[in-house]
Amino acid sequence: MEKKVQAGFEVQLIALRQRLTREIDSSERALREDVFKPGRITNLPTHPADEDVEGLDSEIAISQNESRLLEQVEGAIERIRAGAFGICQKCGHEIDAERLQAVPYTAYCIECARGEREQIEKPVRDEPRRFL
Ligand SMILES: [Zn+2]
Repeated sequence: MEKKVQAGFEVQLIALRQRLTREIDSSERALREDVFKPGRITNLPTHPADEDVEGLDSEIAISQNESRLLEQVEGAIERIRAGAFGICQKCGHEIDAERLQAVPYTAYCIECARGEREQIEKPVRDEPRRFL
């Protein structure tokens, strides 16, 4: 990959990392405020247990997704610095330029990514061992 193109991805990834770090920070703060709202239980006339549980769950889910994404972004930045950016971490082939434009933090080419998903969707024990 051309240095110029790679530098463009690096700028993009660093900006994404900053955004994610900020978002994770603020959603963690929001979570803490939700959980430890002072005086909340005593001020409420009704039972507070069912209130806002769904909202809290989705906030936790969002912050977990963001953390995972942040890990991928950090991995991609490391690969740029190691000179391995744009190389599939599984099969070693170059990752399609279009795919990198769409998901610059991906570690896998489209074939390997598809393979990973299929493995998750179809557990190995359900597959006949026809290749052996
Ligand atoms: Zn691959």
